[in-house]
Amino acid sequence: MSYDFDLFVIGAGSGGVRAARFAAGYGARVAVAESRYLGGTCVNVGCVPKKLLVYGAHFSEDFEQAAGFGWSLGEASFDWPTLIANKNREIQRLNGIYRNLLTNSGVTLFEGHARIVDAHTVEVNGQRHSAERILIATGGWPQIPDIPGREHAISSNEAFFLEQLPKRVLVVGGGYIAVEFASIFHGLGAQTSLLYRGELFLRGFDGAVREHLRDELSKKGLDLQFNADIARIEKRADGSLAATLKDGRVLEADCVFYATGRRPMLDNLGLENVEVKLDKRGYIEVDELFQTSTPSILALGDVIGRVQLTPVALAEGMAVARRLFKPEEYRPLDYRMIPTAVFSLPNIGTVGLSEEQAIEDGHKVKIFESRFRPMKQTLTECQERTLMKLVVDADSDRVLGCHMVGPEAGEIIQGLAIALKAGATKQVFDETIGVHPSAAEEFVTLR
Ligand code: FAD
Ligand code: NDP
Repeated sequence: MSYDFDLFVIGAGSGGVRAARFAAGYGARVAVAESRYLGGTCVNVGCVPKKLLVYGAHFSEDFEQAAGFGWSLGEASFDWPTLIANKNREIQRLNGIYRNLLTNSGVTLFEGHARIVDAHTVEVNGQRHSAERILIATGGWPQIPDIPGREHAISSNEAFFLEQLPKRVLVVGGGYIAVEFASIFHGLGAQTSLLYRGELFLRGFDGAVREHLRDELSKKGLDLQFNADIARIEKRADGSLAATLKDGRVLEADCVFYATGRRPMLDNLGLENVEVKLDKRGYIEVDELFQTSTPSILALGDVIGRVQLTPVALAEGMAVARRLFKPEEYRPLDYRMIPTAVFSLPNIGTVGLSEEQAIEDGHKVKIFESRFRPMKQTLTECQERTLMKLVVDADSDRVLGCHMVGPEAGEIIQGLAIALKAGATKQVFDETIGVHPSAAEEFVTLR
């Protein structure tokens, strides 16, 4: 049986592009279908534009602190349309880079929605293509609870394209996106409230980190409301929104932004035509080789709902390409010690186990912790404090987790992830010479 392609990838996001490029590089005949935007969520409505907005939001603090270093700047003003237009231009440039990456590596690109017809056939723009294997890399989509007035709320998808910065924003949710966007809106000058349904946001992160970030965000004037959830949203005649909370309070806003998780993107994918099992949460179920219950169909990235991070989708794409077309270089993916950052202001950087997880896993733990005022702030009025924390296994001395809340935590944690991956003990941390003066050196001087 001969097929048009060896591999047909559905979705040109982080995971799909990586798998396609490398498979083509290994000599396979590869096609990719993309319905929306090259580069997927991360490039268009995720990591990249988000980080640009975070940089933008940080300037308000920089301007305030500059006075302590002798600078006087006059009154600062901010123009949202300029930031969005510049961001859009940069994203367009990246879209072009993704197009070149694909075409230069010999991948055939189909721009349109792809639908699976059978275990070896995909239809795009009314044309059918056969493939020995089909890879589903369709990512995820924001999920907003079905409350009355839901149509007045926006998600991250729309937030990146708002025409004006809203004056008053309610952010709903307590995960990565909620915390990051609350920092963005607040930093850019919007009156911002974050509403989270539970006791404390960022469930799953280390308890000290969650509490420290809560305190730092509150100190900056961000209104945090825990045990709070919206029951309904109404639009007033003047265009403003009124959100009635489950406890009966009514909050006024110009924008209600939901960041209440994401669902797998399976819309009109044709899964009813094949035997592809979903797990209990609705994500595509795959084995350790990313194979679905139909052997010729594979899946990776956010649509399998393991760890929804770009570098994980990239690593999964790489693993699939190697296993299929360069098996001698294939290594199973190790999901332990994945570092991650929440780009709130201040950032969280974390790798390994939280104190709570370590105890739950049966470790006897030793905790090393430091809280301090970063040197850059000593000449300013800023009262922000940094937290650094190590979770160490008391029996083996192995460092099980590193956690930080503070400037550049996302940058600092990457190097520590290598140490933890290599199995570093606390003694190795102690024997490592610090970089002085830096915040990062605290990680090797914790006693
Ligand atoms: P995606 O990148 O979502 O790509 C899927 C692609 O498939 C899309 O382009 C889509 O249009 C296309 N598609 C879907 N269905 C079809 C179809 N039927 N036919 C053709 N094409 C189709 N991760 C980080 O690591 N760091 C961050 O800072 C970070 N920030 C984020 C911020 C936000 C606001 C969001 C929403 C996510 C963020 N993420 C971040 C997560 C990261 O973006 C995802 O984990 C990553 O993009 C997943 O890659 P993927 O390849 O699985 O899917
Ligand atoms: P998360 O799953 O991280 O968080 C969802 C939040 O919404 C949780 O606090 C959850 O509460 C709350 N929630 C869920 N359902 C409801 C509901 N019906 N009503 C009220 N609250 C609800 O999702 P995000 O949307 O923030 O982000 C999706 C994923 O994208 C992240 O998990 C992460 O993997 C990735 N991402 C990574 C980033 C990074 O690396 N910096 C940045 C942004 C996204 P509860 O905890 O009580 O369940």
